[in-house]
This record gives sequence, structure tokens and C-alpha cells, in this order.
Amino acid sequence: ELANRMAERVAAVVKALMNNGMMVTQNQVIDADTAELIIEEFGHKAVRVSDADVEDVILQIEDDEKDLKPRPPVITVMGHVDHGKTSLLDAIRNAKVVSGEAGGITQHIGAYQVQADGGQVLTFLDTPGHAAFTSMRSRGAQVTDIVVLVVAADDAVMPQTVEAINHAKAAEVPIIVAINKIDKPSANPDKVRTDLLQHGIVVEGMSGDVQDVEVSALKGTGLDELLEAILLQAEILELKANPDRPAQGAVIEAQLDVGRGPVATVLVQNGTLRQGDIFVAGEQWGRVRAMENDKGKRLKDAGPSVPVEILGLHGTPEAGDVLNVVETEAQAREIAEYRQQLAKDKRAAAGAATTLEQLMANAKADQSVKELPILIKADVQGSAEAIVQAMEKIGNEDVRVRVLHYGVGAITDTDVGLAEASGAAIVGFNVRANASARASANQKGVEIRYYSIIYDLVDDVKAAASGLLGSEI
Ligand code: GDP
Repeated sequence: ELANRMAERVAAVVKALMNNGMMVTQNQVIDADTAELIIEEFGHKAVRVSDADVEDVILQIEDDEKDLKPRPPVITVMGHVDHGKTSLLDAIRNAKVVSGEAGGITQHIGAYQVQADGGQVLTFLDTPGHAAFTSMRSRGAQVTDIVVLVVAADDAVMPQTVEAINHAKAAEVPIIVAINKIDKPSANPDKVRTDLLQHGIVVEGMSGDVQDVEVSALKGTGLDELLEAILLQAEILELKANPDRPAQGAVIEAQLDVGRGPVATVLVQNGTLRQGDIFVAGEQWGRVRAMENDKGKRLKDAGPSVPVEILGLHGTPEAGDVLNVVETEAQAREIAEYRQQLAKDKRAAAGAATTLEQLMANAKADQSVKELPILIKADVQGSAEAIVQAMEKIGNEDVRVRVLHYGVGAITDTDVGLAEASGAAIVGFNVRANASARASANQKGVEIRYYSIIYDLVDDVKAAASGLLGSEI
């Protein structure tokens, strides 16, 4: 590859490497410093593609306040299984599809837009589930403005409800509670409200500031009220973007289609994406050959908060990858190749997983970080709560432990996802990680520590927090 790029003979490059004491074969990977040495020996000039170069190409244009225009809110629906997330998403879509819109038949592209009675547009991510939410975050995409937390009125708060609350809190995204299934005779919405109190969610009726709406996804009641609540929250957030700049977005879904090649649903977050635009999306690049919205309508351009399905990728990106429009194909290819190489290197180094100590070292380098995020799983609720209390006592005004999530049961993939997204370590108290969580923790470099004595745990975390501060606490 190196010989190729320099337009030199492979044998000559291998020989030069050997002369430098490196016994290599022609397909062996060499490090960048060695490559640079060899390149110079051949009288060429090495141009390294660095993180900084990539940042340069992907212009992080600071938008001028005066260029910012209001944009629709982007909403994710979360909640416990069977509480009605899918039903609610379907009910909203069916009730609010703008009549007369091309075909009117919505296709599943991972997100859709609806129009409220007042004409305001809302974008819903059509992929309920917490894993999707955190895996997006862990890949650098913060796409959700508002979380709608669905809680079934005949069931109240369940483990995944709590998990959803913690995910939303970790991402600092405001929550609106949709109390679902109020059509059921056994519905008890007040139980939901009081249950939520225990998890730090105080609804407006209980003098808190979290909006709650009673709905029935089945009967279609309360949907307008829910949309109104979302729009009110959106107004408070003052969501804005600049439509007059090269697009930046996030990949919501992507797959390889037999007939059409790689297809990705992209949510435009800033700027306007146009047909013909050249872009990078994570480790992939492409040129927008065609774009369709969620109603299957062909689009020439898509502005902020618009989800579109795009064709013209050279590979399949991953959900959560960030998309940036760049100027030239050469730039796009170079950035994609650079990132692929980086990912390869990272996989190679995956053996050296992040440890609590390393996490601390990193945090230290970044002076602004004075929080030690952790996730706690325990065998029984009592232990989990005792540990959280102990954790809250650790620290002082300069450093503190932040418990992102705690719960009962084995450590799962979702826990690992949340930990990765927030740079946290996981603590297992008398519980283990399941096989798939272990594998994914290994791969993602998330540290899992096991304890059976609270004192040991407190000591370790204290030491880590002291390390973070650089002095005893
Ligand atoms: P998800 O797992 O959260 O996506 O939940 P689903 O949307 O799949 O709903 C689970 C079950 O609850 C299904 O059988 C739905 O028909 C039912 N369901 C959902 N919403 C309502 C509702 O408002 N009222 C009643 N009675 N049933 C509902």
C-alpha cells in the first residue's frame, strides 16, 4: 500500500525497511513513524491525516446567532416492555399523517414527522428502546431533544421505566410522562405519579416541573394533549439550527439493501442536506444519489430535524454515526479511510481495556472533569440503595461520585451501553455480567468490577476519587 502510494516498487520498500532493521513482509502493517521515515528516504513528503486535519475539513462552523432558525423537536419514546411504546408511536403517526401527502403511506425509515393541529412539526424516532438511545450516544450522536416516558397505568413503574429515567437523566434530556392505557378499568394513573416520585420525577400536579399526560394508544385519546406538552417543552428548549450551511446529521438506521446498496436513514441536525452532497458518515463516505422522506417522497433537500433515507453510500455506516458534508470526494475518502484505520488500531488495542485507574488518569488530564461516573448493579434492592448512599457520601466540593444508574440483577448489554456512553465504570455487587455483556464490555473497553463487601467497594472508589483530585479526600 505504501509502495503503491509512493509509486515505488514493493521490493524496494521492503528492502528499505529491512535496511532499517525491520524484517517485514509486503502485507505487514507498519506504524506511522516508520512509514514517515521510509517515505522521506524515498525523497517524498509524508502528509499525515490527523484528528486535527479531519476537524479542519469537517468545519465545525460556529453558527451566528442571527442565522439560527427554530427547528422541530426530536422525540424518543422510552419505557418498560409492553407499556405501549410501539402502540403510541403508531397511534401518533396514524392520527397525524398529513392528508394529501404523497401516497400518505408511511414507510419505516426509523423516524417520522407529524404535524400538530397548530401546524408545528414534530420528529419522532421510530426506534423505541434504550439500547438504541445509548448506542447513539456512545457513538457521539446526541439526537434526542425530549424523551417521552411511557408508563402503563395498570402496571406503574417497572425496572425498565427506571432505566429509561436514568438514561434520560444521564443524557440531560427532559422527560414528559405519558401515562398510557387509561382506557383500562384497572388503570390507576395516580399510582404512576406517586411511584415516579421515588425516582426523582415530580409531575406538575404534584408541584414538580415534569409534564404528564394521560393517554390511550389503543383508543387514540390524549394524543393532542401529548403533542401539545411536547411542543411546550420544545418552546422552553428554544431549539434552533442554521439551515444555510453544509449539513451535519446522525445516522438513525443503516442496512445493506440487495437491490439498492447501502441505505441509511439520516436525521439532519444542522444545515441542509442536498442531493449531490458529498459526505462522511462515521467510517463511510458517499454522495447523496437520492433522498426520500418517511412518506416515500423524493426530496432534493432536507433541512434541520428532517429524517431522510439516503442512497449513494460506499459502505454501511452504523446507527449513531455522525454525518458531515465535506467539499470534495478526496476529502471524504481520506477521512473515511483514516477513521477505518483508527478503528482497526483501536480494535487491535482492545486487549488493553480501560481501567478505573486509566479513567482517572484521563479525567485528571481534563481538569474540568471532577465527577466519577459509576453504574451499580446489586443482588437485592437494599444493597443497591445502601451502596448508592455510601457513594453519595464520598467526595467533597471538588470531586464527587455520580451514580448514573442502579438496579437489581445481572449486568446486561444495556448497562454496558450506558456506561460506555457516559465513560463510566460498572460495579457488580454479588452479581455478575452475563456472557454477552462481558463480551461487549471487553470490546468497548468498559470496566466491570465485582464486589461482595461494601467496605472494599467504598475504599476503591475513594482511592479513585482521590486520584481524580490529586489529593486525599
Ligand atoms: P411496547 O413493548 O412498549 O412497545 O408495547 P406495545 O405497544 O407492543 O403494547 C403492548 C400491549 O399493550 C399490546 O398488546 C397493546 O395492544 C397493548 N396496549 C398498548 N397501548 C394500550 C392502551 O392504550 N390501552 C390498552 N388497553 N392496551 C394497550
